[in-house]
Amino acid sequence: MQITRLRLLGFKSFVEPTELLIGPGLTGVVGPNGCGKSNLLEALRWVMGETSYKTMRASAMDDVIFAGTDKRPARNMAEVMVAVDNTKRTAPAAFNDADVLEISRRIQREAGSVYKVNGKEVRAKDVQILFADAATGARSQAMVQQGTIGQLINAKPQDRRRILEDAAGIAGLYTRRHEAELRLKAAEANLERLKDVLGQLG
Ligand code: ATP
Repeated sequence: MQITRLRLLGFKSFVEPTELLIGPGLTGVVGPNGCGKSNLLEALRWVMGETSYKTMRASAMDDVIFAGTDKRPARNMAEVMVAVDNTKRTAPAAFNDADVLEISRRIQREAGSVYKVNGKEVRAKDVQILFADAATGARSQAMVQQGTIGQLINAKPQDRRRILEDAAGIAGLYTRRHEAELRLKAAEANLERLKDVLGQLG
């Protein structure tokens, strides 16, 4: 799934609306220290459903909102939108009727995040699965941050296996299995309750 566009508004240092077009192939981000290169990658991870504020180098998720400078007041909202090319129809069935998917996440101070796909509100989990299937998820190895190569070389065999599974595009299956296990547990609990009720009746 090819990412074609990234739009930021009020996210970290990107207080002005900023739009980047992303071409096919490998994309590198270069610029002087502190210009916002890591913030850009974090914006990508964030819109893909990152739940850990620590991964965002923040002490709370609200910290991704522009915090203000001497000259500009802080904002109360941040939004990141990523557009992906879905002409090959690789998205999960629920979103698979459009050539372009615009996935957005918006956070309001003290009100949490809202996710949308092509303007329709969806769960965080839907977005996470969408990108996990495409092997480009928030923790994907497709995004190489500072220190990542060193971590890969020193990784334990189990961690390397995760990386390979992610590259093979099967990471989404773990999320689905977890959801299925939770549903199974709930069904088992209902069955137990039913047995109790039947026992009392008999
Ligand atoms: P380096 O090359 O040194 O790693 P970089 O280009 O990756 O730098 P970033 O770490 O992405 O730069 O950006 C750091 C800048 O972002 C800092 O100036 C910091 O003050 C600013 N910044 C981070 N969070 C916020 C926020 N919530 N509001 C405003 N500015 C922020």
